[in-house]
Amino acid sequence: MTTATPDQLIVTIDGPAGSGKSTLARRLAARLGLDFLDTGAMYRAVAAKAIERGIDIAEEPYYVVELARNCPLRFDWQTDPPRLYARGSDVTDRLRDSDVAGLVSDVAAIGAVRSVLVENQRRIGVEHPRLVTEGRDQGSIVFPHAAVKFYLDASPAVRATRRAEQLREMGKPVQLQNIRQNIIERDRKDSSRPDGPLICPDDAIRIDTSDMTLDAVLDLLEQNVRVKVGTRV
Ligand code: C5P
Repeated sequence: MTTATPDQLIVTIDGPAGSGKSTLARRLAARLGLDFLDTGAMYRAVAAKAIERGIDIAEEPYYVVELARNCPLRFDWQTDPPRLYARGSDVTDRLRDSDVAGLVSDVAAIGAVRSVLVENQRRIGVEHPRLVTEGRDQGSIVFPHAAVKFYLDASPAVRATRRAEQLREMGKPVQLQNIRQNIIERDRKDSSRPDGPLICPDDAIRIDTSDMTLDAVLDLLEQNVRVKVGTRV
């Protein structure tokens, strides 16, 4: 197992789909001069590769595990946000497609897939020790000793609207009702799985962002980090 190093400064942001984690984590990292890790992208990359290979996840979960073990994921840290390569091919533009979104929580529920990606994320935490990382289990499982932990939440309606705006900006097709349904379904699966379920860690700062602007949340996150870690940022 990869262990923590003393010079690590890890900030974790967990929360359900569409709570604004990715955008906020990325902007917080930029403000603080830290690197940014989107762990959902890693699960999405495995899901995209499984679709490409025509794997039936329900019938053949062991093929997905094999795929995760033999499919090195690499971020290009020179780009913002970092582009993601799976087995050398750039999968970034596939990650937000609806077929990937529809399958990703089933992939993420496979314990052995999680083990591979959790280990991978801890290794990234050693290689990039000053990091804002976001996902579902970053504060609870992957980096339990993180310097600062946040848990972001918002109502399903607000989260669906935000995700729709994000997709629209990316030029992807948008059907609000489907997005809302997908978010609710993923919440259910992500919260109920036995391995690395979505939870708010006891020592996390919980923020309901439903009625807040992005900038207001960002200011609040930054303020909390600066208070907690002082001159380390
Ligand atoms: O954050 P994002 O919506 O990109 O995550 C996609 C999916 O990946 C989640 O719905 C969840 O099933 C899975 N995930 C996870 N653990 C993480 C990050 C994402 O299980 N740390």
